[in-house]
Amino acid sequence: MSELFRLLPSVDLVLQRVGEADQYAHLPRPLLKDLVNVFLDQLRADIRSGRIAASGQLQWAALQAPLDAFLQRSSRPHFRRVINATGVVVHTNLGRSLLARQAVEAVTEACAFYSNLEFSLETGQRGSRYAHVEELLCKLTGAEAGLVVNNNAAAVLLMLDTLAKGREVVVSRGQLVEIGGSFRIPDVMAKSGAVLREVGATNRTHLQDYERVIGPETAALLKVHTSNFRIIGFHKEVSLRDMVALGARHGLPVLEDLGSGNLFDFMPYGLDHEPTVQETVAAGADVVTFSGDKVLGGPQAGIIVGRKEYIDPIKKNPMNRALRIDKMTLAALEATLRLYLDPESARREIPTLRMITVSAEELKRQADKLARVLRRVLGGEAEVRLLPGASRVGGGAYPERDLPTTLVGIRPRNPDLSVEMLRDRLLETDPPLVGRIEHNALCLDPRTLAAKEHALAARVLAAAMEVGG
Ligand SMILES: *Cc1c(COP(=O)(O)O)cnc(C)c1O
Repeated sequence: MSELFRLLPSVDLVLQRVGEADQYAHLPRPLLKDLVNVFLDQLRADIRSGRIAASGQLQWAALQAPLDAFLQRSSRPHFRRVINATGVVVHTNLGRSLLARQAVEAVTEACAFYSNLEFSLETGQRGSRYAHVEELLCKLTGAEAGLVVNNNAAAVLLMLDTLAKGREVVVSRGQLVEIGGSFRIPDVMAKSGAVLREVGATNRTHLQDYERVIGPETAALLKVHTSNFRIIGFHKEVSLRDMVALGARHGLPVLEDLGSGNLFDFMPYGLDHEPTVQETVAAGADVVTFSGDKVLGGPQAGIIVGRKEYIDPIKKNPMNRALRIDKMTLAALEATLRLYLDPESARREIPTLRMITVSAEELKRQADKLARVLRRVLGGEAEVRLLPGASRVGGGAYPERDLPTTLVGIRPRNPDLSVEMLRDRLLETDPPLVGRIEHNALCLDPRTLAAKEHALAARVLAAAMEVGG
């Protein structure tokens, strides 16, 4: 064994060999050195455990391939691209919305060059970072004023902190939701210093329930979109219009956390009616908050629009400074919102809208194409079939709604490679591919797997199935 330890190459020797290869030239030397040390430690452990027992196993020819594989695997950045073949369009774990090309270009420019982020080109003086999108937001939603913060959770917090700190906010028990990622309305309310005044029952709340608790301590009425869950059966919520009329009678603002917040009407594309932000503003909500990166299809952001008398103090709240958005987000948001000026170009250019509204026939065509590419690349290694299936909007929008799609199902022919093993191996490919198992096959949904990713998906599948070596 000590003989084997002596045969281990030195760190410097390995580094020198590795240094000759172009593929590692971009890596910082200290990182490479650390990785080589980890690799050599593993070899020492293998000698001790008897997995390495012959001198031949330590020759450079034998070490090169495992070293390459190890370095390639371990030197990748931690935060990486993945292929989303799940069919969940706004997949929170996979980064929610993809940006439109126009937004990507705006981000690139905003971070590569100086900008008028907080500089007014009219006066040559200090300007406001919010000015860049406020006008657009007002135009698109019909609101009097607006601002943008880090995300919608921050938007709700800031709204309540500004308008209701130390006072009561009336909310229906049917809307005390947890959205996930620990966003719970009662907890956010507590953090903001507002006092939650719950009314009604889980399944039914009436206008009188709100009216009965209104008193000198009441600061606002709040409506919360239930996003990722639905109450069905014996159920009643008070309409926004009725809440607005009630608020007006008592001089109280009506706030609505819309969650996903559509600026686009998906009804003509077969989805159920969801009030858009425009409709919510028109129905009289005084302040409306929604996410930038859910169904809107922009960057992570929390958008707050409403009446000037309520938005102005929100803008001035010192907490706003801690929740502010950065210039890259602003650039992406402005570019995305500009596309909404023409709804048809929004639908065409914003990937989230395109993926939600694509037709079943087009999905079938894409599935056909993908299946052909896969059959060509995987040859006899896998059975590739088209299967009927369902995609989801995701992001808490339309939680019960299946969007019909055609899946491409892959089943390895190798009896030693189960569908579950294939799914797990695909998490280690470069890039990783996330699909789902249905009908005992690994299924890829062309709704989220773009046509330009077909060849890449085939390549990583071939690698995971060890096709062609
Ligand atoms: C998603 C959601 C939030 C949180 O929005 P983020 O942008 O993820 O911070 C808040 N409220 C509702 C109703 C939501 O659906």
